[in-house]
Amino acid sequence: MYESIDGCRSCGSAALKDVLSLGNVPLADALLSDSDLKNEERRFPLNVAFCSDCSLVQIRETVAPEILFGDDYPYFSSFLPAWVEHCRLNAEELVESRQLDHDSLVVEIASNDGYMLRNFHDRGIPTLGIDPVPGPAAAAEKLGIPTLRRFFGAQLAEELRAERSGADVIIGNNVLAHVADLRGFVRGISTLLKS
Ligand SMILES: [Zn+2]
Repeated sequence: MYESIDGCRSCGSAALKDVLSLGNVPLADALLSDSDLKNEERRFPLNVAFCSDCSLVQIRETVAPEILFGDDYPYFSSFLPAWVEHCRLNAEELVESRQLDHDSLVVEIASNDGYMLRNFHDRGIPTLGIDPVPGPAAAAEKLGIPTLRRFFGAQLAEELRAERSGADVIIGNNVLAHVADLRGFVRGISTLLKS
C-alpha cells in the first residue's frame, strides 16, 4: 500500500538523510464515521528526509494515490468562501494578463469541484479539469466543466498533446506537494503547455 524512496524526489540524489520520524500515523484526509471506530485504523510510516544535494525536505513513503484520493475523499474546494473569492480574483488576473478568450484553453490539474475553472467557463473560455476523485469531479461536471478522471503525469500530458494544440494556462493549486513523481509531473506540464 506504500513504497519508500531511496533517491531524492527532485534531483534523484542518493544523499537523503532522515531528519524526523513521526511514527505510524493515520492518513490526514481519511475521516472516520461512527461505524469505523470499532475497526483498526490504517496507519502509514511518516518519515521526513532532507536531500543534502538540493535541500528538498520530503517524506520517504509514498502511499498509493488510489488510497489517498479514493471514493471517500472528503475535500471539496468550494467549501471555503475566502479561497473561492481568492481564486475568482486570480482567474480575473489570468484572463487579463494572458488575454484569454474562446480560442484559449485553461487546464487545471487537481481541479477538484470546479471552484477555479468555473471562473473561466462562465466567460466562455474553454477549460479542461484533470482530477481522479469521483465526488468533486462529478460536481465540476455538473457545472459544465469537462473533467478527465485521471492522475496527471508525463504520460497523460503526451496523450493530451497528441490530440490538441496545448494549453495557454495550466493551474495547479496545492497539488505538487501531493505528487510522488515530481519530475514526471513537471515534465508533463512542460509538454502540455503551449510555447
Ligand atoms: Zn535532491
